[in-house]
Amino acid sequence: MGLTGLEIYKQLPKKNCGECGPPTCLAFAMQLASGKATLDACPYISQEAREALQSAAAPPIRLVTLGAGDHVLEIGDETVLFRHDKTFYHPAGIFIEVGDDLDEAAMDERLRAIGELEFERVGQQYRVDGVALRATSGDADRFLRLAQKAAAAVPWNFVIVCQDPALAEPVVRLLASRRPLLYAATDDNWEKMVQLAEEHQIPLGVCGRDLDHLAELVTKITQRGYRELVIDPGSRETSQVLADLTQIRRLAIKKKFRPFGYPTIAFTSEPDATTEIIQAQVYVGKYASLVVLRQAWRRSEILPLLTWRTNVFTDPQKPIQVEPRVYEVGDVRDDSPVYVTTNFSLTYFSVEAEVEASKIPGYIVVVNTEGTSVLTAYAAGKFTPEAVAEALQRSGIADRVKHREVIIPGHVAVMSGKLQELSGWKVIVGPREAAGIPAFVRSRYAA
Ligand code: SF4
Repeated sequence: MGLTGLEIYKQLPKKNCGECGPPTCLAFAMQLASGKATLDACPYISQEAREALQSAAAPPIRLVTLGAGDHVLEIGDETVLFRHDKTFYHPAGIFIEVGDDLDEAAMDERLRAIGELEFERVGQQYRVDGVALRATSGDADRFLRLAQKAAAAVPWNFVIVCQDPALAEPVVRLLASRRPLLYAATDDNWEKMVQLAEEHQIPLGVCGRDLDHLAELVTKITQRGYRELVIDPGSRETSQVLADLTQIRRLAIKKKFRPFGYPTIAFTSEPDATTEIIQAQVYVGKYASLVVLRQAWRRSEILPLLTWRTNVFTDPQKPIQVEPRVYEVGDVRDDSPVYVTTNFSLTYFSVEAEVEASKIPGYIVVVNTEGTSVLTAYAAGKFTPEAVAEALQRSGIADRVKHREVIIPGHVAVMSGKLQELSGWKVIVGPREAAGIPAFVRSRYAA
């Protein structure tokens, strides 16, 4: 349990000098208790008091990192109950399990496919976070062989799923520089697993039989001094996992119950890929830090989950945007048509797709409307004749085409006169919806 404001206050110097920000030591103590300040802000605190207060000042859920270099995955460091309260922080990591019982060809195919699970959608890059390597066969050589293949094929992170420390040790040694998660310490193996994780300085998963047992096991491990932990309540049925993950997060954040102050991991259990993805979506929503899939691995199966994760962890008040500049679609020439649109990603990519579908290469000049669509931007005064004229001028499009015709969305036909006057370009009113672009442009420019 974390300390209260009054308990913290007893340890402070009581100079009431205000150098920490708040005017008094008591006010500072209250901020520390609620996680809104750090001990470093007080220059007069004694070393003894600092050590005593470390636990109160630490975030209710510890920050744990997996991976190295460009592929560091941060999980935990949560201070609020609901995802949206901290503007969609630390998206859940998604891992795909591969067992060492697959034959060599299937292993190669699976790892190659996982290594290619990257997607571009409305200008954003999606990908899975890594592979969970499961020791299924009980054969140390097979498990190491799987790890060697995975290390070569997958550039991201790893979870080593093996409860036998002797079997896990060569794989941990192989992957240690990439900081994998070793899963899992249980009642039977925890001392050796802690030793292995400590020796290689990697995070350790802890799996309980239920919440009470998990708290006991975590307490034993932390009393030994190891705190790089990721916890698993051990449940596998969807509603129970959801209840356990919610309880863990609530107790950690609201009650500062330290044994649950660690990021969580959830394993799917549904027998087919489609229901498994739905199950994983529940865990991404509430409140897994890592989700391990056991069936799905094909692109068509994974994209819906990655899209869901992006939706859960994207702040709806900050629309996704593209950079405001000139885009070329196809092999443009100096007589290619010029379109203007807004920088809301969904608007831009709708226009881009239809220009491409028209088979007539074109330029798209994107106006900065702070990520709003055409009608919203127009209503908000962000897609005005002045803004479009300035975008045309700034974009340098006049140096890339020999004509002076610009196509505007049909919804803002009303701006054509003023825009023509301000820009000097002949304004062509295009279709109201992007879907009308191919027919419109073919009838006008096909010749
Ligand atoms: S800086 Fe330290 S001594 Fe001064 S008011 Fe803040 S807590 Fe108290």
